[in-house]
Amino acid sequence: MWRASFLSAERLVADVWEFRFSRPPGYIYLPGQYASFGLETSIHDPRGRYRTMTLTSHPNDNHVAFVTKISEQPSPFKTKLMHMQPGDLILLDAALGDLVLPKSPDLPLVFVAGGIGIASYVSMLQDLITRKEERPIFLFYALRSAHEQIFRGLLDSYPLQLKEIAIAPNRLTAGQIKSSVPPDALIYLSGSQRFVEGLQIALEQLRTPRGQIVFDYYDGYTDL
Ligand SMILES: Cc1cc2nc3c(=O)[nH]c(=O)nc-3n(C[C@H](O)[C@H](O)[C@H](O)COP(=O)(O)OP(=O)(O)OC[C@H]3O[C@@H](n4cnc5c(N)ncnc54)[C@H](O)[C@@H]3O)c2cc1C
Repeated sequence: MWRASFLSAERLVADVWEFRFSRPPGYIYLPGQYASFGLETSIHDPRGRYRTMTLTSHPNDNHVAFVTKISEQPSPFKTKLMHMQPGDLILLDAALGDLVLPKSPDLPLVFVAGGIGIASYVSMLQDLITRKEERPIFLFYALRSAHEQIFRGLLDSYPLQLKEIAIAPNRLTAGQIKSSVPPDALIYLSGSQRFVEGLQIALEQLRTPRGQIVFDYYDGYTDL
């Protein structure tokens, strides 16, 4: 367990915020991993005082960051986050997760995001840009509205093989993904549970081997 001090909170779009904390000495992680963040003191929150958040910072950064939605009626946990002052401490667990870059640089990758699920790919893309490494990456990004798009600059600065943005009422389908990417591609899914599980099942029905799909879903949200 580490302690990190709050640096800043920045509104990215409407209800999406990025929170930054100092990176504790010795805290290491791989681009794409997530960590559990906890409040120092207990709160009256049915879900407790910890939340899992995907790290949008890069391992070389001096800070750690995540993005999250702050709804009109946020949980007590997120209410506390919004009231943090510079220097306030948060608890941080070791980073985990399999949504990381595979060893082979030639393997085609498909990044599928629903809403703020795009956060899962931010650190990986930043890593490739930092290391000046180009991999064949196909991006599919589903949004409820065009205004919800985040990390636009980063997504524009990486030479993606394909960038498909589906804005509601348009929907991303497994058939669309399958027909646009190489058959051996590794498919990453990230978003709400409904989004991820729906696509996972549909991709498997289209005979995508289980081993070719990796996913994280952001629990606690009905929609992202
Ligand atoms: C591997 C993994 C990675 C994750 N990465 C991220 C990430 O990068 N960013 C992220 O935001 N989340 C991420 N999550 C999910 C995160 O851990 C939280 O579950 C999520 O942010 C919801 O937080 P919250 O419970 O504080 O609810 P909130 O976001 O405050 O609320 C969620 C919804 O519930 C409603 N609600 C809240 N309280 C109540 C109440 N008392 N009664 C009725 N409705 C209520 C809100 O209005 C809102 O619609 C991740 C989860 C996992 C497992």
